[in-house]
Amino acid sequence: MPDGDILIGGDWKQTSDGQTLPVFNPSDGSEFAKIARGNARDIDAAVKAARKAMDGAWGRMPAAERGRLLSKLALKVAEHAEELAVLECKDTGKPLAQGKADATALSRYFEFYGGAADKVHGDTIPYQHGYTVMTLREPHGVCGQIIPWNYPMQIFGRSACGALAMGNAIVVKPAEEACLSILRVGQLMLEVGFPAGAVNIVPGLGHEAGAALSDHPGIDHMSFTGSRQVGTLVQAAAAKFNRPVTMELGGKSPQVVFADADMDAALPFITRAIIQNAGQTCSAGSRLLVEDRVYDEFVGRVAEKFKALRAGPWDRDLDIGPLISKKQKERVEKFIGDAGKDGIKLVASGEVAANAPSGGYYVPPQIFGDVPATHILAQEEVFGPVLAATRFKNEEDAVRIANATPYGLVAGIWTRDGGKQMRMARAVKAGQVFINNYGAGGGIELPFGGFKGSGFGREKGFAALFEFSAIKTVAINHG
Ligand code: NAP
Ligand code: MG
Repeated sequence: MPDGDILIGGDWKQTSDGQTLPVFNPSDGSEFAKIARGNARDIDAAVKAARKAMDGAWGRMPAAERGRLLSKLALKVAEHAEELAVLECKDTGKPLAQGKADATALSRYFEFYGGAADKVHGDTIPYQHGYTVMTLREPHGVCGQIIPWNYPMQIFGRSACGALAMGNAIVVKPAEEACLSILRVGQLMLEVGFPAGAVNIVPGLGHEAGAALSDHPGIDHMSFTGSRQVGTLVQAAAAKFNRPVTMELGGKSPQVVFADADMDAALPFITRAIIQNAGQTCSAGSRLLVEDRVYDEFVGRVAEKFKALRAGPWDRDLDIGPLISKKQKERVEKFIGDAGKDGIKLVASGEVAANAPSGGYYVPPQIFGDVPATHILAQEEVFGPVLAATRFKNEEDAVRIANATPYGLVAGIWTRDGGKQMRMARAVKAGQVFINNYGAGGGIELPFGGFKGSGFGREKGFAALFEFSAIKTVAINHG
């Protein structure tokens, strides 16, 4: 994989115009690699290569054999876990422990879907006399997949695995800010024997390669993980072709803490859920809703934790790394500055570690208190290490506030009361609800996706296999 190449039809090659983009290390701002700046012609070549794979060796491959390839890849990724983790950390700035966890998760994706590939089948349906009716589960065909920069490896695994297990060929447009790990995995895929064109990877800018992919007539299914704004563009393009889409958009997920909760158990989860990946996680627990009676005590304890948190470069493996880019740092700092101007109280802040490189994009973790549920800090995704705490009076109030954002991705509920647990799980509009834990990042087996503005369609678990295939009903009149 020479620097700056794209993967099309089993070969690494330059883009049609030879253009590349610089890659930066967010821990110190230095440039350390380059990637291809894929364009519309490259996307077109990739879609054609994927179609050829569907019409050839990949399209004819039995499900068990596809599963075997994915299982081999799981082992290969595990062998290269350390290398992939370091690459991911340099590219995104995340602390090494997180990079290692991401590599483990990627291997697990291939393992799960390797085992699942030949376990999906159709039904026979009782029908009229003289008929036999069956359903077949068929791949969509060529799947376009647009991946964000926050968890390149993991989200590549999430989108690619279900599609490949069901026999689709894929054209992947990873994010320009971070995609080195995905390119390396592309190489490992060729090494374990994926046929030419089953997987094609074209990095580039969103409005160039990304837009060309979402607007390409040769795509049969499109999955997009990213912001709501770009998600709308991808859906509008898909509508022109009446093409199915899977949308994994953002979140403003609440952690709801009732007065009877086990505070000691909740505390580490609540901190981790917002500082993981420096808050650049779609499922970040970015709102803390606490019952009035225990609000001061509990928020005080979270504040103590925040004061001890340190941000630093990936290789020091501290509590959090830098944000992905200067632009993202400025965006997060604007949210923080505006909250201050609006009189929202900063309860506690961590620190940037002494000796952190001055060119890095660091923002220390911060918690704001008594944030009105309607304030932008409690409504919009900051995508940084910023927690907004809000009081609630009772269960009804908790439900109202928890659901009062445009999003509905994940929720955490903390209470010892079994009835309350179930009522909250039913009342909260979110794709995943965690009772006395919070862990959307783990659990390859668990279906994941949004309600409301967080998107639709499900990835992960068995649900992804249905997402990346369609039912064909075959009715035979045999008399
Ligand atoms: P983004 O701007 O929407 O970018 C996501 C991807 O779309 C990138 O690959 C980007 O390419 C590409 N893109 C940008 N403009 C495009 C266009 N006009 N047409 C087609 N593709 C285009 O999002 P981001 O700011 O990088 O990522 C953070 C967002 O992703 C957050 O809102 C977060 O919540 C969300 N997210 C959601 C999930 C989930 O599963 N629900 C998971 C992770 C992240 P370039 O980056 O190269 O421009
Ligand atoms: Mg980078």
